[in-house]
Amino acid sequence: MKPFVYEKTHSEWKEWMKKEGESSFRADQIMDWLYGKRVLSFDEMSNLSKSLRQRLADAFQLDPLKVITVQQSSDGTVKFLFQLYDGHAIETVIMRNNYGNSVCVTTQVGCRVGCTFCASTLGGLKRNLSAGEVVAQVVAAQRYLDQMEERVHSVVIMGIGEPFENYDATVRFMRVINDPKGLHIGQRHITVSTSGIVPSIYRFAEEGLQVGLAISLHAPNQELRKRLMPVSYRYPLEELLEACAYYIQHTGRRITYEYALIGGKNDRSEHAHALGKLLEGSRSLINLIPVNHVPERNYTRTPRNQIFRFQRILQSYHLHVTIRREHGSDIDAACGQLRAKHMTPEEKKTS
Ligand code: SF4
Repeated sequence: MKPFVYEKTHSEWKEWMKKEGESSFRADQIMDWLYGKRVLSFDEMSNLSKSLRQRLADAFQLDPLKVITVQQSSDGTVKFLFQLYDGHAIETVIMRNNYGNSVCVTTQVGCRVGCTFCASTLGGLKRNLSAGEVVAQVVAAQRYLDQMEERVHSVVIMGIGEPFENYDATVRFMRVINDPKGLHIGQRHITVSTSGIVPSIYRFAEEGLQVGLAISLHAPNQELRKRLMPVSYRYPLEELLEACAYYIQHTGRRITYEYALIGGKNDRSEHAHALGKLLEGSRSLINLIPVNHVPERNYTRTPRNQIFRFQRILQSYHLHVTIRREHGSDIDAACGQLRAKHMTPEEKKTS
């Protein structure tokens, strides 16, 4: 199968052009066609010679995503269900914030991590996405926003999949969208979220990137975390927090801990106190997420007043705590929910 054009950084395009006997400024031109003009065919690249366009078409695929559906929420959230070349479906979401448009991308078809509150893991992991397939999601979101003359402001790698189980493609994706000749999305406007793949956190600390790191914590102790997130058997909470401390110390950056509040499971005052004690004094932000209802799971939402109480308890430990704004609650808001709707019962069985 031919690679996608969106796999390459500007400097890699320069090398490719050199190998083809072309001037290096052709790399600037192709970056402009792909990320500035956002064309959908090589034929549109009118300032490249016919022969170069043909060689590009012979070597690369241009458009990896076919739109299956687009859902629009009354709050402005837009959710795309895309079909990949092999028939698998993935989701991409545009969220409207007061500071700008944020795009949530998918890095894997399905997920093998098995968090018990998540629709994305239904059916297990089918395959990793290539970096180009992830970049294409941001380009598609930008094409959609072009109609309103708006821009992608930030990118969160929090869609379907565990990005650190597709590590190389995820890091390549960050470098491509950050490229000044391409979409030029600032590193500080990119956030990657992991369920806690400990070796990858150490590795990520060495990448020299100024990208935000978020950890899906969801429990204040190992026992409960094992029940909610089986990944904790592989990487216990203690080891995860050690890796986080290393990351903070090594990069000078703080970490965001995400905590999905699940009715009756992890949302009581005692959980808030335990979490407060666990993170007290760490350089971190806690983001409380009212869990979305997933029909296939039997989880309920925490009442609003209880969420505020949980926040106040954490604040009493001098922690910085936010409550995530809900996006698209009138469409299939939970990650993986729209894709799950398009899966047959057979596909939903974990392979
Ligand atoms: S929450 Fe993330 S890591 Fe956990 S199962 Fe869902 S997609 Fe995978």
